[in-house]
Amino acid sequence: MTDLHITAVRALQILDSRGYPTLAVQLENEAGAVFEASAPSGASTGAHEAVELRDGGTAWSGRGVTGAIAAATGEIGTLLRSRPWETQRALDEALCALDGTKNKSRLGANALVAVSMAAARGFAAGGGHSLHTWISHTMGRAERLPVPHFNVLNGGQHAANALAFQEFMIAPVGAATYPQALEWGAGIYHALAGILRRKGLATGLGDEGGYAPEISSPEEALDLIMAAIEAAGYRAGTGEVAIALDPAANSFYSEGGYHFNGRTYTPDHMVDYYGTLLDDYPIRSLEDPLAEDDAASWPHLVSVLGRRTQIVGDDLFVTQSARVAEGIRSGSATAVLIKPNQVGTVTETLDTLTTAAKGGFTAMVSHRSGETTDSFVADLTVGSGCGQLKSGAPARGERVAKYNRLLEIADANPTLPYGLEPTLGQGTTHA
Ligand code: PGA
Ligand code: ZN
Repeated sequence: MTDLHITAVRALQILDSRGYPTLAVQLENEAGAVFEASAPSGASTGAHEAVELRDGGTAWSGRGVTGAIAAATGEIGTLLRSRPWETQRALDEALCALDGTKNKSRLGANALVAVSMAAARGFAAGGGHSLHTWISHTMGRAERLPVPHFNVLNGGQHAANALAFQEFMIAPVGAATYPQALEWGAGIYHALAGILRRKGLATGLGDEGGYAPEISSPEEALDLIMAAIEAAGYRAGTGEVAIALDPAANSFYSEGGYHFNGRTYTPDHMVDYYGTLLDDYPIRSLEDPLAEDDAASWPHLVSVLGRRTQIVGDDLFVTQSARVAEGIRSGSATAVLIKPNQVGTVTETLDTLTTAAKGGFTAMVSHRSGETTDSFVADLTVGSGCGQLKSGAPARGERVAKYNRLLEIADANPTLPYGLEPTLGQGTTHA
């Protein structure tokens, strides 16, 4: 093992994909090699997420990150240069201790996650490994190319339309290889544009690159997607191209009810409603079907629907190991969404993945709605072997940065298996 000797820490304010500031960090080692990473930013955030440090005030609508940059180059920089780092865990634990808060609010999860991801690249390079292989060694997990979950139709807080559900994704579970999955996904995305145009619906995009037509019901969205899958020449079904949903139910939940389609649904009605969607559409994954403030209703939903589809906690777990452990104990979900900036460091992210796997939960790695061209999550998905990534539409630079990174990994590692984790018996896998 090679220690990481950091000699310089630089940070720069850049723009994310929504035109808001974020930070890019560079760590330089004693040999002059530079390791870079940048922080993404969510819009539909969970209440328990690690907190970004934002400047407030009037500049950049209060979203400036000069404070986070000062933290990275100041206190964090002094710490990182103070000694050689033997492991990522030691470095991340020191970052957490320096911050000193439970939610990373003093130094900022945006500063910490960018520094931690850049350091991971430094450790990987020091050991002569690609980032994904270093992650696989660090976790003791077998590498795997994931099934990409392409978010082709956007609503909720990521679009200006009246659609309450946030993400409608397609998952080419039956593709033989990752490059083939990408081809299928792009074909379906383009077919969807054609269908929207023929129906006189707008083809403007939401934040994650999916179309955001003026429709309002989830069924309309699902019918459009089913038509697009077929128009592109594929079979909609859990063996070939499946559908995944992230309603992000926090955003339409208030006072004990879920408000959409012009109605108010009780938690029990929501379970029935999702049941009918599962009857009518090949939905393999359902993320945040209920609100985080309605945590008591999740176990019932899992008991009714959990064998029919994957139930993913995003806002409920916010990539935090203790929250996932509690979800495993209470049967609140069957899977966890993994976003490094929800927790703040790489080590905590890997620990959450390990907790999930030990408890029999599956995991899906995720981008944020506000992204940069950093492709860290692509390597994280491969290295953890979790078999599932969502990174938005197969279009727009910040989204395809991840999908294209997977192409690079696939090209350089022709024997890597593609698909969902076989031991968990979900859908088709091709080893
Ligand atoms: P966010 O949304 O990045 O805006 O939080 C993504 C999600 O809810 O999965
Ligand atoms: Zn989500």
